[in-house]
Amino acid sequence: MKRILRLVLSLFLILLIILVVRTFLFSSRQIPIDPIQGEPVPEGAVSRMAKSVNFPTISSALGVDTSAFLAFDTFLRASFPLVHEKLDWKYENDFSRVYKWGGSNPKLPPVLWLAHLDVVPVEAESRNAWSQPPFAGIVADDYIWGRGTLDDKVNVMGMLEVVEQMLKEGYQPTRSLYLAFGHDEEVGGRGAMAIAESFQRQGLSFEYTLDEGSLIIEDALPGLDGPVAMIGLSEKGFASLRLAVSLDEGGHSSMPPKETAIGIISKAIAKVEAHPFPARMGEPTRSLLTYAGPEMNFPLRMVFANLWLTDGLLARLLSQKNTSSAIIRTTTAPTIIEAGVKENVLPTTASAIVNFRIIPGESPETVKERIIKVVDDDRVDVSFYNVTSPSAPAPVSETSAFGFQVIHKTIRELVPQAVVAPGLVVGATDSRHYLDVSKQTYRFMPVIVDSDDISGIHGIDERIHIDNYKRLIQWYRRLLENSCS
Ligand SMILES: [Zn+2]
Repeated sequence: MKRILRLVLSLFLILLIILVVRTFLFSSRQIPIDPIQGEPVPEGAVSRMAKSVNFPTISSALGVDTSAFLAFDTFLRASFPLVHEKLDWKYENDFSRVYKWGGSNPKLPPVLWLAHLDVVPVEAESRNAWSQPPFAGIVADDYIWGRGTLDDKVNVMGMLEVVEQMLKEGYQPTRSLYLAFGHDEEVGGRGAMAIAESFQRQGLSFEYTLDEGSLIIEDALPGLDGPVAMIGLSEKGFASLRLAVSLDEGGHSSMPPKETAIGIISKAIAKVEAHPFPARMGEPTRSLLTYAGPEMNFPLRMVFANLWLTDGLLARLLSQKNTSSAIIRTTTAPTIIEAGVKENVLPTTASAIVNFRIIPGESPETVKERIIKVVDDDRVDVSFYNVTSPSAPAPVSETSAFGFQVIHKTIRELVPQAVVAPGLVVGATDSRHYLDVSKQTYRFMPVIVDSDDISGIHGIDERIHIDNYKRLIQWYRRLLENSCS
């Protein structure tokens, strides 16, 4: 008995030593670099940003607001005359636009910065809940208010400010910079598809692509002081499945059978909800933990340094909140259910749509297979819903590549208080249309936000602090310089 106890104790001691040693060897992945002062921001930049909000460039399933896009086009050309005089540029698919600033060294692969010109509508019922009218472009309390100030005119305007300013100074980039602005990102991105096809015809291959999708988030992780600058290495895939029941007979509701179409479809949905997809602590979430972990205080640091032992525990912790659960698993969301027309008639058919956001490592096909197994009922037909075509998760870009390094370095220079970490984007961006022409794709914008700010995206009171906007301009400028050095 004593010998067994001694054996257990010494095994425990060995384990403890391994944990502690690994914790001490768990060193910071932040690029050690001195912060710099950003260049002064061009005069009038804030009011130009505010003015850009005035054009309600709304895209919807029905199409886009043509007059708003035409007026916005006039505004952009008047605001950035050098950009439109000196760069090669053209429209694509009506209102999308592409700019090329040719580099002096043709041997260097070009870089691609993306943004989109369209915004989501503001629901009539929520208009009164806004602190400032959503399309007035008001600057108040050190904020620029309105639709597009975070998603995504801020990036369009910030990038154009930088190029205009640098053209004025006579700057010549060594590698070519392409700016591509879609006009219908919020409804699928046909503009981006057309631009990507034209890039493909030209045989272009970008060193990296940068798009929206991830930000610098305050209080992002417990146990970490300071905001986290999350660089999205991948984005989740998308699929909707249609679950449908079709019975031979309906009948009168006064003499119902034991199981009805509505009952069968309800059971299927209940099963799907009761069997969430398993947690996957794969990339890029693993990299997020290994970048954030070394910056944490002791007990958590030990947890993150020993993922070989603790990943099960972490998966359980992350599963507790909807936001963190979404980065470790394919999510399941029943969104539409249809059956029945009259209170005393049993319907013969019933159907439901379930939307899935797919984590890297899985695919629309594996999702479908799993759902067929979970439902386990021959009467329920499972097929892809044909309104939006399913898409696989984007490949995970590398942290060792030039693009990640240069984005990382530029964040460290201008936002030294932030911890840089890779991450997974749970929504979809236009960057997915450019995967074939880009070696690496990163999703990041240099804006510090808290949860209130995030709720303004597609929601009420979208706004950006003036300091945040100025920093964004400085950041893009520095990113171009760093990309060219
Ligand atoms: Zn957007």
